Amino acid sequence: MQKIVEIHGFTRIRRVAPISNDTHGGRAKCLQRLIRLDLPVPQTVALSFDTVHRIAAGDMPDIAAVLKTFGDHPLVSVRPSSQDPDWGGPGAMLNIGMNDIVHRELVNSHGEEAANALYLRFVQSFAINVARLDPEMFDIDNGLGNDALSAALEAYEAETEEYFPQDPAVQLAEVLRSMARTWESTTARILRQAKGAPVDAGLGLVVQQMVLGVGPGESGAGVIQFVDPKTGAAQITGRFLGQSQGRDALRATTGAIYLTEDKRGVSLESKCPDLFQFLIDYGDICRNKLREEMQIEFTVENGLLHVLDAVRVHRSPRAGVAIAVNLAQIGVISRSEAVLRIEPHSLSELLHPQVDPIGKPDTFLHGIAASPGAAAGKIVFTSSAAQASEARGEPCILVRRETTPEDIRGMHSANAVLTERGGVTSHAAVIARGLGLPCIVGAGGMTLNSKEKSLRTEDGRTFCEGDIITIDGTSGEALVGAANMLEPGLGDAFQTLLGWASDVCDIEIRANADTPADALVARNFDAHGIGLCRTEHMFFENDRLTVMREMIFADDTDDRAAALERLLPMQRADFTELFNIMQGLPVCIRLFDPPLHEFLPRGRSGMRDLAEALGLPLSDVVSRVEELAEFNPMLGMRGVRLGITVPEIYDMQVRAIFEATAEVSRAGAPVIPEIMIPLVSAKKEVELVKSRIDALAALVRIETGVKFDFRLGVMVETPRAALRAHDIAQYSAFLSFGTNDLTQMTYGLSRDDAGRFMGDYVKQGVFAEDPFHSLDTDGVGELLRIGAQRGREANPDIVLSMCGEHGGNPESIAFCRNAGFDYVSCSPYRVPVARLAAAHLVLKSRVSV
Ligand code: PEP
Ligand code: MG
Repeated sequence: MQKIVEIHGFTRIRRVAPISNDTHGGRAKCLQRLIRLDLPVPQTVALSFDTVHRIAAGDMPDIAAVLKTFGDHPLVSVRPSSQDPDWGGPGAMLNIGMNDIVHRELVNSHGEEAANALYLRFVQSFAINVARLDPEMFDIDNGLGNDALSAALEAYEAETEEYFPQDPAVQLAEVLRSMARTWESTTARILRQAKGAPVDAGLGLVVQQMVLGVGPGESGAGVIQFVDPKTGAAQITGRFLGQSQGRDALRATTGAIYLTEDKRGVSLESKCPDLFQFLIDYGDICRNKLREEMQIEFTVENGLLHVLDAVRVHRSPRAGVAIAVNLAQIGVISRSEAVLRIEPHSLSELLHPQVDPIGKPDTFLHGIAASPGAAAGKIVFTSSAAQASEARGEPCILVRRETTPEDIRGMHSANAVLTERGGVTSHAAVIARGLGLPCIVGAGGMTLNSKEKSLRTEDGRTFCEGDIITIDGTSGEALVGAANMLEPGLGDAFQTLLGWASDVCDIEIRANADTPADALVARNFDAHGIGLCRTEHMFFENDRLTVMREMIFADDTDDRAAALERLLPMQRADFTELFNIMQGLPVCIRLFDPPLHEFLPRGRSGMRDLAEALGLPLSDVVSRVEELAEFNPMLGMRGVRLGITVPEIYDMQVRAIFEATAEVSRAGAPVIPEIMIPLVSAKKEVELVKSRIDALAALVRIETGVKFDFRLGVMVETPRAALRAHDIAQYSAFLSFGTNDLTQMTYGLSRDDAGRFMGDYVKQGVFAEDPFHSLDTDGVGELLRIGAQRGREANPDIVLSMCGEHGGNPESIAFCRNAGFDYVSCSPYRVPVARLAAAHLVLKSRVSV
């Protein structure tokens, strides 16, 4: 924190005074700017962070000197001035200096009613905020009765056993001390740190000459802003209340008038057109010179307009985008600045419905916020119930202990997902993000009873199938009943901003897309291609699961070939559709990855159904399921290991890719598919798979008569693959780092179970962040750097990318960009966030050069 020396511990705000955001806070600096712009700001002095810090420690500035700036009978207000207004601060205190003498003078000049009201207001706020007395005792309706001023003074004296302080210096000193200490309290610190404030964030204070807003002539106070805070559209909003101060007009239930002409009643525009015009001019000045949409707090005293304060209009993420784009379009700020003004994470709030904080229902459960957005619906506990609910047109929430590939159809039907187990890269989380479904995982505070179809929370509440709940996947809260929603705010401004972001991006953003629907979302968000198509998800569609299971149950190669023969046209159709949607953009198809047992039913009744479907004895099904069971399936027979031991599966997939390539290329521009081998750990694995793929390519070229090309690459998701990247790169056109598995294997930490203790680990500081959520740049990052460097050494043209869930995370994108990666790939709904984050990196690096 920069320190400044103030002669008496304060600085009078003038055009040339040494005031800065970093020393005196945003409000003080803004007031100085308003003064420089010749707006009618009353006399103001600023106390620096350093001075306020000393006040909290008991070291007062020269209070008499402060007050002297305001004349013989000073009446002042004090307002907080933190570096970032969003960090909050103590509430404003008005009318400091009010005492019996000033009261008598005001009775003569402004009338008894106004004088009483001002004195009462000060006594009330001093008693409550400074002397910390019971607010109820100072409530006019509750305790004070008709002669409210005397009653308030008596109540003060009775409680404190002291007269109400009459000396303005004592009053001001007490107010400053109280505000300084409130800022330094633990609660206030925790609250502002949650909003991103640093531990040592300072508070400045501004002391300003009161403009009374009460008394003769046109007097009152109001607030005006020039945009709708929800949408950002140009619209004058605010209120004016005669005979009032501060922000009373916004709180008043009666008497406040509209600002612009309004059919519903009187307006400031019709009543005082000159004043109104001044306000419009001030709004224009602020927009053009402060380069922001400001909310102006003004007071009128006896017909004269004063501007007490101006703050950046508080805005929704949607309005934030609209305002930034508009300011750039009217030439007030540059496009780059508009892009930089939008925090990438805030875009995810625009992409999905959000719970309206107004009237938000009771929270009954917390978990890990795994996929943003919110949805309400009836609880269902099985995938089939979710599908039935969808068929009835009833929104539903799928609640599971954890999800497996078998639940994918249920997830498609559900409006949101809640699981007891899992972390941010568990099955439920990954699929939900891909589908754009709100999802909470790792909600350990509930117990599921699948027989009774109910869930019970730790505090004893029970929810049954059919009960309505809301899942807030942005905050990780499950709420009782249906919450009101704020609809997503995509629109022209959003698209414009993303266009500007893309113009400067120097790392490509692709999408992880498994289905045509995903691919369409990816295209809508202008993804540069598909970076990861997890083909196994295609086998869970409708009738394919049974054929897949037939393939798994095949007794011999012929039977297996017959089942694969039936899967081939389906896969070919999948890839044809993806290529058509992506229209020549790269599509990276990952060959089959999960262990085969994931395709088999779990419970006894599922096995019975399967036995029926395949015409096999139940005992055969049970024993095959047992045969395929593994102690540690994530480290078992999956990925390339399956490709080598049961090569027919990869053969079928590769043939489908090539046949689709030939078909689409024949009809239009040539397609160059990218084929990716998962879970590689040795060069020989790549050699073996590559030789079969090359042979198949040659065969399909002859069969179809189309001369297509393809690119073969490896997914680096085992530590060994990263360490031996120079071996692997010799056979690879690209290396794509799968940081979900790489994190799992580097830490030896199950991505499906880590959710159980991750909260404790982060709370106790063992991990700064959940490494599945935020890339561990030290450990996993080192493997990425080693892999990239060794891969490049062996093959300088190799394309490098990241396709784990981290790919959509702004911090991980920074890592990839620094490491010289060509692209990142993330869930389709995270593409806009990633694009904006990538643009920020470029623009910030330009500024720092
Ligand atoms: C990964 O492991 O990072 C990855 C992208 O693959 P999956 O999540 O399908 O295991
Ligand atoms: Mg993986």
